[in-house]
Amino acid sequence: MEIKLDLKPFILDGVPKERPLIMAGPCSAESEVQMIETAKGLSALGIKIFRAGIWKPRTRPGTFEGYGSMALPWMKSVKDETGMYTATEVANVKHVWEALKYGIDILWVGARTTANPFAVQEIADALKGVDIPVLIKNPVNPDLDLWIGAIERFYQAGITRLAACHRGFSTYEKSVYRNDPNWQLPIELKRRIPNIPMINDPSHICGSRERLLEVSQKAMDLNFDGLIIESHCNPEIAMSDAKQQLTPASLGEMLNKIVLRKTEAENGSISTLEELRVQIDKIDDTILDIFETRMKIADQIGLYKKEHNIAILQSKRWDNIITKRLEMGEKKGLSAEFIDIVFRAIHEESIDHQNKVMNKKEVAI
Ligand code: PEP
Ligand code: MN
Repeated sequence: MEIKLDLKPFILDGVPKERPLIMAGPCSAESEVQMIETAKGLSALGIKIFRAGIWKPRTRPGTFEGYGSMALPWMKSVKDETGMYTATEVANVKHVWEALKYGIDILWVGARTTANPFAVQEIADALKGVDIPVLIKNPVNPDLDLWIGAIERFYQAGITRLAACHRGFSTYEKSVYRNDPNWQLPIELKRRIPNIPMINDPSHICGSRERLLEVSQKAMDLNFDGLIIESHCNPEIAMSDAKQQLTPASLGEMLNKIVLRKTEAENGSISTLEELRVQIDKIDDTILDIFETRMKIADQIGLYKKEHNIAILQSKRWDNIITKRLEMGEKKGLSAEFIDIVFRAIHEESIDHQNKVMNKKEVAI
């Protein structure tokens, strides 16, 4: 069901209205020099919003947790030197008061905070009566309602300059990403709240510089409104998230490579075609997972046949399989030709797997 929110523009005066809205800056505020040098590089690219973490929610203790309030005057210096708007993360009421006291222009709620409704409510209540843009990152876990719930809590507290930020979701399995993008979730959020701006955070999705362009491009192809990207004047010595930060110069090069394709839906909603493609990609992944599982079972069958000295090909069984699959396929509107090709190929692959297992030479020790 669609959720109707009467939102004011997230974008502040002087920030170009065209897509993509870019927010960039270091993961953490490390020193006034680091901040100003980075900000000048970004400002030269035409970027108007500077991000930096003052309070850093770190997964493990003992890592750099940000300089806290002492870094707030550095944000003010960035503003004075470059005229950029400043953005930082707030995770509790004290952060909100301090950030407002020092004139921070945009706040964001981090992934670990969005996952906690008590914390979200406290921050939202602390902002009652304040007209400030708030960016709400997705929770660390792929729970769409939790993300929507956080947006609603701010909206109900009277904050109407809201945007959602897609920073990926943590998984136990090893992946090429630091946080799995799980594109269906932001797409579904856009379907539920069509007028909320969607900002992609490729830095925290990728965890390295490698796929930043690919992820940013995909976000643009999905008609996202903007990107928040980590940039540091000297990424090698960054005190947090060093591997994923870009120098302002490399960020400029990357942004130049992004192709802004025409989307069918120019009204801000995610294009239907791209959305359907995401669904297709997901289904293909599932098909591959199922093939993998099926072949693992074939390996076990191979082992069993080897131990019991049974031949691989049991013609009757194969005949049975193909007849049943053809019948089932027909009921599902799939042509006999297609079913025949697919199941023959599966069967051949399965025989190959069994063959390998049965003929594997025992290595003499
Ligand atoms: C960040 O933006 O630096 C950050 C801590 O992000 P997240 O909450 O997405 O991990
Ligand atoms: Mn970071």
